[in-house]
Amino acid sequence: MSVAASIASGTLGGRVWFYSNYHCNLRCAYCLTESAPEVSRRELGKEEILARGREARELGFTAFGVTGGEPFILEYMPELVSGLGAELPTVVLSNGTAFNERRLREVEPLADLPVHVQISLDHPDPDENDEMRGPENFRKVVEAVPKLVERGIGVRIATTLEDPDAVDPEERERLCELHRSLGVPDEDHIVRPIINRGRAMTNEMGVLAGYEQLDPELTLTADGAFYSPFGPTVRGGRLDTDLLVSRTTSPLREPAEALLRIAESRPPGHDTSIGIN
Ligand code: SF4
Repeated sequence: MSVAASIASGTLGGRVWFYSNYHCNLRCAYCLTESAPEVSRRELGKEEILARGREARELGFTAFGVTGGEPFILEYMPELVSGLGAELPTVVLSNGTAFNERRLREVEPLADLPVHVQISLDHPDPDENDEMRGPENFRKVVEAVPKLVERGIGVRIATTLEDPDAVDPEERERLCELHRSLGVPDEDHIVRPIINRGRAMTNEMGVLAGYEQLDPELTLTADGAFYSPFGPTVRGGRLDTDLLVSRTTSPLREPAEALLRIAESRPPGHDTSIGIN
């Protein structure tokens, strides 16, 4: 089966993920990539991402995702996301803390493109939110989100919890009232579990995720192509390679076909449920 046909049939996920970088201004307790200001950048590069993005569209992929680390601490991120969004619908995962006035001006062109910035916000109480994500995180996020919404930029809120099913309904409702008040409707609020990889594994948090639990979604990093955006995690400063598909990322056809072979070899009846949404 061709890559395009396998995407159409659902054997392969339609989104290609790019790990733009691994460094971050935060140091969250459950971070899959052990990101922090001082870690190795492992930067994929603007031109590389745009070139692979063009190939991805030609191969039949239908969407892009950008993640890290914190993508928006890279100077060229607004321009890069504009380039990707001109090709296919794009979501960028962000901690929402890098949107100063200059950055806000730079992202204004994204309002005219099929682009969403997906910002993390875990709890309606500042102290509880900041316990996992660091001081002042709550304040910065609730300031940034309305400024992005005002500019017409698509914003989603992502809430990451140890056990989404066990959350207190009253707390959940307060969080939903908060995101609505920031201009983000219910359909753009995503709740997902902590994944037991990276710093979450060190801190003994989250649910297990391996081949059986994850959907195949082509994921490119500076170190190669992976089976899922949950693959290129870091623990103890070392990149996890259990979900590595190929060290080669160019031409894109090679890792795409390698991923397809893996996807086709999975026994039928898989019931995966952890998309990195
Ligand atoms: S979870 Fe996201 S915001 Fe937090 S340290 Fe990791 S990359 Fe940065």
